[in-house]
Amino acid sequence: MHRIYENSDIVVFWNSEKCFHSRRCVTASPLTFDPMRKPWIDVTKDKNSNMWQAIESCPSGALSCTYRHDIDVKMDEANLRSVAYAEDKEIGECDYSSDGSGISIYHTGVDSAYEGKGIAKRLVYTILEYAERNRLEVSATCSYAKKLIEDNKSNRLHGGQA
Ligand code: SF4
Repeated sequence: MHRIYENSDIVVFWNSEKCFHSRRCVTASPLTFDPMRKPWIDVTKDKNSNMWQAIESCPSGALSCTYRHDIDVKMDEANLRSVAYAEDKEIGECDYSSDGSGISIYHTGVDSAYEGKGIAKRLVYTILEYAERNRLEVSATCSYAKKLIEDNKSNRLHGGQA
């Protein structure tokens, strides 16, 4: 399961397949990470610095984060894509095809002026979360998206502790 959470400054990614419940994040920022709450991550309740430290303490790579850079990422279901905007200008997109029961991500691209800001990851995560919430199988021919998806599989194969 992939989830993406944002406040006005930062974006937090969580990949449940990598999480082996060490609870270090819960100890470091209990306001943000509360396993008894749904959703269990809330990025509006603690200082960004505390959240950032908690995320860095995650031993599994399940959590990661980036700054928002005032860039919005949204689903554009009608056009089978997610889109990144800097103000009103489109500066990136992730495209997929769909056969009704599954989707295949075939392209992720970000304007070169905006590279290195975690936008590609936000674009792909937005689609992965959308697909998972709609119970759609996901595959990818886009090498970047494929790497994110296969990284999960290899983690699953090597397992983790409950
Ligand atoms: S620190 Fe990482 S592995 Fe541990 S519970 Fe939090 S997200 Fe999961």
